[in-house]
Amino acid sequence: QIPVITIDGPSGAGKGTVSRAVANILHWHYLDSGSIYRSLAIAALDAGIPLENRAEVCRIAEEMQLEFDCSAELQVKLNGINITPKLAGETTGNAASIIAAFPEVRQVLLQKQKDFQQLPGLVADGRDMGSVVFPDAEFKVYLTAGSRERALRRYKQLIEKGIDANLDQITREIEERDLRDSARATAPLTVPAGALYIDSSSLSIQEVIDRVINLVR
Ligand code: C5P
Repeated sequence: QIPVITIDGPSGAGKGTVSRAVANILHWHYLDSGSIYRSLAIAALDAGIPLENRAEVCRIAEEMQLEFDCSAELQVKLNGINITPKLAGETTGNAASIIAAFPEVRQVLLQKQKDFQQLPGLVADGRDMGSVVFPDAEFKVYLTAGSRERALRRYKQLIEKGIDANLDQITREIEERDLRDSARATAPLTVPAGALYIDSSSLSIQEVIDRVINLVR
């Protein structure tokens, strides 16, 4: 059994930063499952498909070719075209959360995510990594923080990337996204059974990384 650490939690809890760091320390692979949903949202929007059109969104999901390069900062190619600059935006995140609510879309994307489980191990970051995609994972973490704290972190990230942002709007969007991600019928955001629960509101990134590493070592 190839070892997997799942790190689930709401948006902006620091999952990406922590997962990438843990994967680097252990020399394991890294799955940013949100970027798969984000890439699909971009593919649908670029093709001019309304996000509510489930059948067409599913068709796009089946046909899209994704290439991930996780060697440094995550780079994603969609059908051979680099879409990395578009991935981070809140518009993309919100669109991703709309299509992520469709069970048939999740089904199509399931295998693409399972394929990341390769030797020597995998750190998988998302909403349903421990509950649905890797239910047999040896190590499970649920990482969260208060919504204002998460909004502030997301705001700083966007500003650093030179993307224009508004803190109040991000807070509102994060709360809306939390609601949509936890109220949906399929694979709602939940704390997986047996997961280590970490509230990072008053922890540094390094403290969170240490706790996750301690779980494995
Ligand atoms: O984590 P990130 O913000 O990139 O995810 C974007 C959206 O994709 C989330 O709000 C969520 O709706 C969806 N998602 C999901 N399951 C995952 C990862 C992301 O439903 N495993």
